[in-house]
Amino acid sequence: MSLSQVACSIHASPTISLNEEARLLREKGQPVIHLGVGEPKNKTPIAAILGSAAKLNSGDVKYVPTDGTPSLKKAIVRYTEENYDRVAAPQNIIVSDGAKQSLWNILFAILNPQDEVIVLAPYWVSYPEMVHMIGGIPVIVTPEDGSFVPTFEEIERVVGSYTKAIIVNSPNNPSGAIYPEELIARIVNLCESKGIYMICDDIYHKLIFDGKVAVPAYQYTSKDVENTKIIVVNGVAKLYGMTGFRIGWVVAPRKLVEILTNIQSQTTTCVSPVLQAAAEGALTGIQSNVEALRLTMQNNRDILIQEMRSFTAVRCFKPQGTFYAMPDFRAYCGNGLVKNSVELSKFLLNKALVVTVPGKEFGMEAHLRLSYAGTAKDLTEGIDRMKWALDPNAPSDIYIGDRKIVRDWM
Ligand code: PMP
Repeated sequence: MSLSQVACSIHASPTISLNEEARLLREKGQPVIHLGVGEPKNKTPIAAILGSAAKLNSGDVKYVPTDGTPSLKKAIVRYTEENYDRVAAPQNIIVSDGAKQSLWNILFAILNPQDEVIVLAPYWVSYPEMVHMIGGIPVIVTPEDGSFVPTFEEIERVVGSYTKAIIVNSPNNPSGAIYPEELIARIVNLCESKGIYMICDDIYHKLIFDGKVAVPAYQYTSKDVENTKIIVVNGVAKLYGMTGFRIGWVVAPRKLVEILTNIQSQTTTCVSPVLQAAAEGALTGIQSNVEALRLTMQNNRDILIQEMRSFTAVRCFKPQGTFYAMPDFRAYCGNGLVKNSVELSKFLLNKALVVTVPGKEFGMEAHLRLSYAGTAKDLTEGIDRMKWALDPNAPSDIYIGDRKIVRDWM
């Protein structure tokens, strides 16, 4: 079959492939616990349901403006003012099919072949793949001290004449870390002085714990939305647990939004007005859902940390936000049991029926990403099964449901 080289070099999203694997195992009746999942279990906020239902009931579901319906854009203008303390005009905003499409469009709009984009490890799996797809070069910065936050010097060191952008995702998927304010301030300064775009993927910005804040990058520039190098990406997926509605947006200077609109007009025409009406409902309705979701995630995070305490060989950074944690499984990787995080993740799926995501996919070998977006019961049982599977002194077999599981690696 004749296919494009770039297309063939793109890997499937590992998180999405794992979802499929877990679904197939469940379909076969296997009691799988999915700690790889990237979405909360909450119900859609009622205001979002009513908004989209009203649009459907109107029977008037047609093409709408490529950059978003005026009323959703108005709600995003207000959101930007309230949460970022920045005045944005509707011309500074474009709505897309999820933050993923927003990010892809931005990269497509700004990159020439061979341009470089700085990606900070651990990173969300799609950043390097998107850059690569568009013909750019992802330049990965991995913290030398093994932590989840690179130093400013590590970032500055890789900036060169081809650097076009840096992607900053704080709170961070997969680590749950919030980058220190000083680091954000210095990155803003670096980007503005060198003319580099700072793409802020703020998709988890309200899922933060223990009174911590994820200060928006805008706070560190005196420039307005129109003149800054900061580009903000956000959406309803994580904020309201509305992953299936596929609504994301970009706040950026008008000229860039114009280009993004041209790209979208030639690819997807517009985002479904039914889904935009849902997002508008969520943004303009009562906001107690966001706080309820945040509290549930904080509670789940506490359960995870409690459970991980007795996992003696594993160190776990306490997440400050998101619904992910990235424990360090170095004690089990490369010591004969398994070679790396990919094998470890497979081992845990085969032996304990627990889905985890290998750290390798996020640029952090010997780690696993665990999601605590599911139920507290799944979380405790999932971690208990992992402890069993990895403990050489545990009984060699157990029952999970009515399935007898034998550890054949011993
Ligand atoms: N950025 C990050 C860091 C994410 O984790 C995700 C979703 N997993 C996205 C962007 C994409 O969000 P959406 O579902 O709105 O496309």
